[in-house]
Amino acid sequence: MVAVTLVLGDITEQQVDAVVNAANSELLGGGGVDGAIHRRGGPAILAECRRLRDTEYPRGLPTGAAVATTAGELPARWVIHTVGPVWSARGDRAAQLAPLLASCYSESLRVAAGLGARTVAFPAVSTGVYRWPMDDAARIAIETVREYSADIDEARFVLFDSAAYDVFAERLAR
Ligand code: ADP
Repeated sequence: MVAVTLVLGDITEQQVDAVVNAANSELLGGGGVDGAIHRRGGPAILAECRRLRDTEYPRGLPTGAAVATTAGELPARWVIHTVGPVWSARGDRAAQLAPLLASCYSESLRVAAGLGARTVAFPAVSTGVYRWPMDDAARIAIETVREYSADIDEARFVLFDSAAYDVFAERLAR
């Protein structure tokens, strides 16, 4: 069973085996979590991302997929890059995209378990630049992680502000 925990803080400071990056398909850095991870983790992460683009993912990492690199100078051992879907205000479209957001969590845990990681820290994928509403993102994140039964001890959601933390706490209590 995965223990689901919540922390108010910065994903780059987590002492866990693997931290998940809310990356974009290009894998070459960006803003938000992605920018913070590359800034704090140093150039080794980007170097591995470039190698992945040159080899396995010439067309980019697909939405809902996950891939691991070194964590460089971060306290973690690995960064698992995953690409969330961009929110659509059209209800039918959002329903089609929700499984891709769930896939970010299940694929990241699958990759983590494959590496032997026991503790994994997640940001609220897609809730920044990609605009997914926090409450729905929290529901999908918590449901997906709770259903996952592989060899992971702790899935930690790291929320950047108290509004996001409160939304996750409310969902977790259900
Ligand atoms: P996306 O492009 O998937 O929407 P973002 O990185 O823009 O990803 O944002 C995802 C969430 O992570 C947002 O809720 C944002 O407030 C939060 N966030 C931004 N920086 C950090 C950080 N250093 N640690 C944890 N969460 C962060």
